[in-house]
Amino acid sequence: MKKVVVLATGGTIAGAGEPGKNVGYKSGAIEAADLVAAVPGLAQVAQVSVEQVCNINSDDVTSAIWLRLLSRIKELAVKPDVDGVVIMHGTDTMEETACFLALTLDVQKPVVLTGAMRPATAAEPDGPTNLLLAVKVAVGGVAAVAGGTASGGRVLLAFAGKVMDGLSAQKIHANALDAFVGMPVGVGALPHFELDGVAELPKVAVLYFNAEADPAQVAFAAGRSEGIVVAGAGAGEFSEAWIAEIKKCVSGPGKRVPVVVSTRISNGEVVPEQLLVPGTVAAYALPPAKAAVLLRLALTQTQNPGSIQKFFKKFVV
Ligand code: ASP
Repeated sequence: MKKVVVLATGGTIAGAGEPGKNVGYKSGAIEAADLVAAVPGLAQVAQVSVEQVCNINSDDVTSAIWLRLLSRIKELAVKPDVDGVVIMHGTDTMEETACFLALTLDVQKPVVLTGAMRPATAAEPDGPTNLLLAVKVAVGGVAAVAGGTASGGRVLLAFAGKVMDGLSAQKIHANALDAFVGMPVGVGALPHFELDGVAELPKVAVLYFNAEADPAQVAFAAGRSEGIVVAGAGAGEFSEAWIAEIKKCVSGPGKRVPVVVSTRISNGEVVPEQLLVPGTVAAYALPPAKAAVLLRLALTQTQNPGSIQKFFKKFVV
């Protein structure tokens, strides 16, 4: 029988609250071994072992945890008796963890993220079904399951009956069980980052532009981080006041940080030809949170906006 290792990190799938209720629970409250043992039919699909990496709400995930997952998956992937890895993860930042792993892992075995929208103590929890799906994909590949948009990349996200590429999966519903879709982020050869010796990633701030948004946020963020991602309006636009502040970030006399311009719109892209401030970087089709992951990775190699732009150029629609 094939062997799968489940790396558990917490989330709603491990959440506990008032029995029968879907809301008002605590994420990351139940040990993963107990959750896995309770999934009907799992033992017929694979021999599953469980490692509890952490037990948190995924809104508390850190780059140190991403790096811990990365190094453990690398260790497991070279073991001849391991066929695949499943990561149990909170849904809120699952796409960021998936994006990080897609850009840093180079393994030939499936790595499948899953989670749940309802806690384990709900009347009808979705975690067991999602976990069963993820394990099936980990042993049988994408072909094991119908539906979804995955092209067969190694980092996958299995959720609510669908299998998606980890890089393109995006949470698009705050409450529904079918919370993820695979967005078309057309990629050629992906950037790949080796992080040997890196203990944590540089901090990056994501700034959301809205009508009359306070431009003082820009200087504040520049002072406290190594880079900024702007979730601009439309195809990456913002006000004259923001233009003035962002100009200072990229070419002023004070601290300079790279600024990547993404969009708060869920479809489409930001291209270099439309950038309002010379010296900023176009995120192309990467949404703000994933653009922040790529910028954090890029900053381990370079601060040069031209070099950073080359990484983003891979993500055209
Ligand atoms: N807040 C939870 C988490 O991301 C939500 C979930 O798992 O669905 O950990």
